[in-house]
Formats: sequence, structure tokens, C-alpha cells
Amino acid sequence: MIKVQFWGVRGSIPTPGRETIRYGGDTTCIEIRTGNELIILDAGSGLRRLGLDLLSRTKDQPIKGHIFITHTHWDHIQGFPFFTPAFIQENLFIIHGPHYDDKYLHQILAGQMATEYFPIPIDFMSAHLDFIGLSEEKIKIGKATVSSIHVNHPGIALGYRVDYQDKAVVFTGDHEPYHFFHADPIKQLEVNGEILSAETTDIERFTGKLDQKLVDFAQDADLLIFDTAYTYDQYQNGKKGWGHSYPEYAVKIAAQANAKALALTHHDPTDTDDCVEAKVAHTLQHIQQQGLNMECFAAKVGDVINLD
Ligand SMILES: [Zn+2]
Ligand SMILES: [Zn+2]
Repeated sequence: MIKVQFWGVRGSIPTPGRETIRYGGDTTCIEIRTGNELIILDAGSGLRRLGLDLLSRTKDQPIKGHIFITHTHWDHIQGFPFFTPAFIQENLFIIHGPHYDDKYLHQILAGQMATEYFPIPIDFMSAHLDFIGLSEEKIKIGKATVSSIHVNHPGIALGYRVDYQDKAVVFTGDHEPYHFFHADPIKQLEVNGEILSAETTDIERFTGKLDQKLVDFAQDADLLIFDTAYTYDQYQNGKKGWGHSYPEYAVKIAAQANAKALALTHHDPTDTDDCVEAKVAHTLQHIQQQGLNMECFAAKVGDVINLD
């Protein structure tokens, strides 16, 4: 069984307040449990409460966990300085993130704790912290496997897939449909031994291949958690190139991948709970119109999903 718990579902900036209380205002953080292993996807502001919860759950026992950061934009790392378990010597955290150089990830996380931004330097975190830079690879964590894929977002960003027993959860991280190219790592693609380049390949063919690569990555996921910050209309009217997706695109990828359930996330800071619910209703209608059989809901802070 994989246990998934949402601690942060908001994009861009924490949005506390009466209008976001049902879905939650904390930025991205997802806890995944595979047997005894603790896997955390992203260190947005939701990580603060997860840290406190881990301490109360484990009492005085040491905590060991893996944190996989999709990318280092603020809303995906800003909870890290407030992650209390990292200040306790007996604990161990292995922090993975997108870059070939392990030092780079440490620099970014230490950088947001420099005196200009934060009173406590990263060196005050007395837990054992390891930093590992990733590209597209597979990592064994106990009996689980975590795979990574480059996605389309300004800077370098990864999506993650966690496989355990015969269950899988996939998280796109921040991702925009491929017609608007961002990251260098996705501008070249190997298809059956042939190297395709975004510059020289027909755009429809190239984006089609990239979509297929994402579909393959998400194949048969029991839960696909997808960045759907915008509605299709918002995307078309001023949000193209901002690095995020909309539900129709998420449904297309989920359907082709045969995903069983689709969770919409990275709710826009301007989206009230009512907006989030309207987006889900619209997406469910779209799924029905397409004749698809797929569960769909909005990621909500506090929700626990057991994949078994
Ligand atoms: Zn984000
Ligand atoms: Zn981002």
C-alpha cells in the first residue's frame, strides 16, 4: 500500500484566509509512505506542519526520510527552513533535486537561509543532511522506486513517480504543455535511438513525442497529481509561458496513460475554495464528455489517500 497525504496544495505563495480554508493555503508538499519509508515530494510551506506532525508521531525516535524537490522555486522550498526535524541531531534526511551537481542544491537551500533572508543559517540544522542532484533516473528507496523526468517549466524541473508493490503515484511538479518550451533538458529527445531536436523537428511531431514520454512516465498510475494552476481560458488569456497547465491537458495525459485517478493541484493563489470546486466540476464534465472513466478531485490539505 502507498499512503499519500497532502500537506500543501497551493502554487506560488501561501494563501491563508477564510476563502482558502477548505483546500488549504500552504504551498506544495506531499508525504508518501511506502512501508516504513518516508518520501516527501517538495518542501513548500506545507513542510512546516508535516515536520511538527512527524515529531509528534515518532515521539523521541530518530526520523529518516527522503525529500525530493521538483524544482527550487520559492513555493517548493520555502518550508525547508521551518522543518523542525532537520534541527535534531539524530535525524537523517537525504534531499534530492534537479541538477547534475550535488553542491548546487545545497547552495540554493543554504542561500534562502542567508542572513539577508533568514536569521538562522543552514549549518544550525544539526540533522545529517545529504544533497543529491538528479536528472532522469531511478532510485531505490527500500522496496520503493522513485523515478524522475524532466518537465516543462522555467529553470530545470522534475516530475516524480513512486512505485511500490504494484501501486504507483506520479506527480508532475510544475509543468506547462510542451508547445511553449522552457527548460533546456527537454529540447532534445531520443526516440528509438534517434536524437530529435526542438529546433529542427516539426513542432507538432516534437511536442507529440514529449507528450508520449510523459504518458509513458505516468503509465497506469493509480494516482496522477497534476499541476493545473489555470483554467484553459486563463491559460489562453495571459498565462501562456508562465510554466503551468490546465485541466483539459491534464485529462488528456491522464487518459492516455490510463491513470485511475487525477488530482488537480498547484491551485492558483487567486483561486478561492469555490474557484477550486468550480474547476473540479468543469473537469469532471470534460471527463464525461470525453467518455472517460476516471476519478478526479482537487488536492486538499489534510486529505489522505491509501492506494491499495
Ligand atoms: Zn510552483
Ligand atoms: Zn515553479
